[in-house]
Amino acid sequence: MRYAILSDIHANLEGLIQVLHILRKESIDTYYCLGDIVGYGANPNECIEELRKVANVSLAGNHDWAAAGEMPLDYFNDFAREAVMWTRGVLTAPNRSFLGQLQLVLSDPSMTMVHGTLIHPEDFHYMCNSGDALETFEVMRTDVCFVGHTHVAGVFIRDGKGNIAGATRSVISLEKGNKYIVNAGSVGQPRDNNPKAAYCIFDTDAGQIEIKRVAYDAAEARRKILNAGLPPFLGERIMVGR
Ligand code: ZN
Repeated sequence: MRYAILSDIHANLEGLIQVLHILRKESIDTYYCLGDIVGYGANPNECIEELRKVANVSLAGNHDWAAAGEMPLDYFNDFAREAVMWTRGVLTAPNRSFLGQLQLVLSDPSMTMVHGTLIHPEDFHYMCNSGDALETFEVMRTDVCFVGHTHVAGVFIRDGKGNIAGATRSVISLEKGNKYIVNAGSVGQPRDNNPKAAYCIFDTDAGQIEIKRVAYDAAEARRKILNAGLPPFLGERIMVGR
């Protein structure tokens, strides 16, 4: 099976369309999204509708639940709160109810998926270091877990002795006895100093996960953010990937 794993699209239609265009040539069997379809960008409805054409499952991100009115705004900083309020104002009723019913965790035989961490997924903690990763490693029942939320693509690997190492490699060959937490990065607002959209392909037959990047029309996404009256900073950051 070949899975495409997308995360943190953040209403960036240009990023999403480009990633889906590239994936059409990748013989993907199943598309999963790790959440935060909306928030920050100017095309929340369009992103939900494009994603729903292909994705088998999408998980809840903090921005999805907030836009649906399922999460208090005090979780968010000023820019994010402003974006949540803007998104609430433009979402269609069907899209709002779609976001409100998204699930927090998905487990299938090959992998577990969650937006933040497996420890109280409803609190949307950030997995930033090996200590954060340890808590999730201890409750994972599969060898591979995919996460998003930080917008920083990379992998934590725990070997058979329990040692955990973080890495930013783009090709991960799975080895027996190891466990892996892969951060799929962000389609629509990367924060790892690389403005290219990030996504993952997991080939279970080959035992390989690839974190891939693709350039897209970020200038157009920025122009739409400015035209929508969203904070200009949200347009600037997608140009530089921070
Ligand atoms: Zn996010």
